[in-house]
Amino acid sequence: MSTAQIIDGKAVATKVLAELKEESAAWTKQTRITPGLVVIIVGNNPASQVYVTNKTRTCNELGWHGETRVLPEDVSQKEIIDIIQSLNADNTVHGVLVQLPLPKHLDEQAILDTITPDKDVDGFHPVNVGRLSLGIPAPVPCTPLGVIRLLQEYQIETKGKLAVIIGRSNIVGKPMAQLLMRKGSGGDATVVIAHSRTANLPDVVRQADIVIAAIGRPQFVKGDYIKEGATVIDVGINRIPAPERPKGTRLVGDVDFETAVTRAGAITPVPGGVGPMTIAMLMRNTLDCAKRLAAKE
Ligand code: NAD
Repeated sequence: MSTAQIIDGKAVATKVLAELKEESAAWTKQTRITPGLVVIIVGNNPASQVYVTNKTRTCNELGWHGETRVLPEDVSQKEIIDIIQSLNADNTVHGVLVQLPLPKHLDEQAILDTITPDKDVDGFHPVNVGRLSLGIPAPVPCTPLGVIRLLQEYQIETKGKLAVIIGRSNIVGKPMAQLLMRKGSGGDATVVIAHSRTANLPDVVRQADIVIAAIGRPQFVKGDYIKEGATVIDVGINRIPAPERPKGTRLVGDVDFETAVTRAGAITPVPGGVGPMTIAMLMRNTLDCAKRLAAKE
């Protein structure tokens, strides 16, 4: 029975943010440009508001412009599109992000498609999805980018390894696969994407040297799915009842940590694993967008 190395996403995120602060300070001194990010949120979903506040606060801590635009729940498609178009044209803004999910009356894809690909810090625009697939530099979805950085920081070899990703979403599973199969550091893996229709999922996962769980089901991946010594990256964030806690709930991942930790070689905890990396990578994307936009002028 092994006890896994715990991959500390909070520590790596702190390191990434410190690097960004230094890099951007030097760049701003030279160019007189301060990176700017605007986050649009529709309605007052408390969970989304926490995410958004964290994003703009992190921006401000780096000395950048971070701004939240809160739009009413009943905002029209045209109003939100007009706002995005004005941000696209504003040269003090380098990143535009629309917090999902949006209310049902709005066409989410049409709204995301309005963000100019050059300011699409989430990497969700079809042009950027295409660029990722072609290997052209572009913003890449933050969560999978953060996973790659964690693997690199912990010197977990991906080259020639079998990576099984559980989940085929556009936000996590698919871009994760693209990154792991890229040539070079953090890539060169043999990639399998498993999903809700995969047959014999535990047997598939048992082959993996690297397991990435992005399912959205609490503690779904059990320890006996994990090959001895495998790396386990848990992207899931799920709130479950915990009567012993003052709040009555706690956060868990898509992996059953207690059983997986005894078999894995290295594992991310939830919270404190992939989550903090997502915001750090959003900041990375914002600075990269600012630099690419400046280079175009
Ligand atoms: P999603 O609902 O879009 O996709 C879930 C995927 O899981 C689907 O592709 C589906 O095929 C697969 N799936 C569902 N049931 C399955 C089953 N029984 N067996 C195998 N596969 C199954 O979710 P998402 O947006 O990719 O998010 C996944 C999880 O990651 C969620 O818990 C979400 O909260 C979390 N998340 C975390 C971060 C972060 O910053 N850490 C960012 C994004 C998402």
